[in-house]
Amino acid sequence: MEEGVRRITGARLIDHDGVVQDGNFLLHPDGSYSKSKGDEDVVENIDGSTRLVTRSLQNWHTHLAMILNRSMGEGLPLMEWLETSIFPVEKGLTAEFVEVGTRAAVAEMISTGTTFACDMYYHPDVVAGVLVESGVRGISCGPITDFPTPSYPSGGAEALQMMDGLLRGGAPSERVEYGIGTHSVYSCSEETLLKASEMAAEHGSILHIHTSETRKEVADCHAEHGMYPVEYLDSLGYFQSAEDGGTVCAHCGWVTKREMRILSGHGAHAVHCPTSNQ
Ligand SMILES: [Zn+2]
Repeated sequence: MEEGVRRITGARLIDHDGVVQDGNFLLHPDGSYSKSKGDEDVVENIDGSTRLVTRSLQNWHTHLAMILNRSMGEGLPLMEWLETSIFPVEKGLTAEFVEVGTRAAVAEMISTGTTFACDMYYHPDVVAGVLVESGVRGISCGPITDFPTPSYPSGGAEALQMMDGLLRGGAPSERVEYGIGTHSVYSCSEETLLKASEMAAEHGSILHIHTSETRKEVADCHAEHGMYPVEYLDSLGYFQSAEDGGTVCAHCGWVTKREMRILSGHGAHAVHCPTSNQ
């Protein structure tokens, strides 16, 4: 028997093909598993009766450092929550807070079997540094908005410029890369969305955007542009093709069938955030 093998007993295992198996398994150091007969030499026996053995989880829409905001303004509608609870606090956000918050969030991710985050938060270089240090995989997408933010005090143009600089510097590690987080259709002008899209195409990086998160966002977009958010983004030529890095659309709680077809046509990923959407 190779060294470092663990036995988990009474466990439920879901394999890479989604097949569910119950029983006793040997967990090998290379990440593979085999069935246990019960008499192998192992370094540890684990009670699997309350555990699930499966591939690690991935979280495709995070603001990791916002673990520090947890329970602030709990239960408020999105815009009220942002305007009365989150944006005022973020005015005082520093790189140090981002580092501490990201580290705490990554520890929580690991404790729940999550080994990947597609993050969108300020000081993306700091976020990337913590991801690299922790050993998880991730994409750190600096958020682009037209209004000034804690890591881009003069607004959208500066945000784009800084993100361009980070992308030119290359991926921080084999497991961690940068992406471009255009915050939303209501916080980015047409010009900002297009510039970000061109930058993503140039660098082959992903585009990450909050899309149709609330009914108000959808109604406002239609009143302003005569189109729903996904239609509007499509009309701009915003979407990054799947071959070139792809587009991650967070939430998509209020999209029409026509918009679903548009997303599908671009190979864009709709990332639902069930707890948040509820
Ligand atoms: Zn978000």
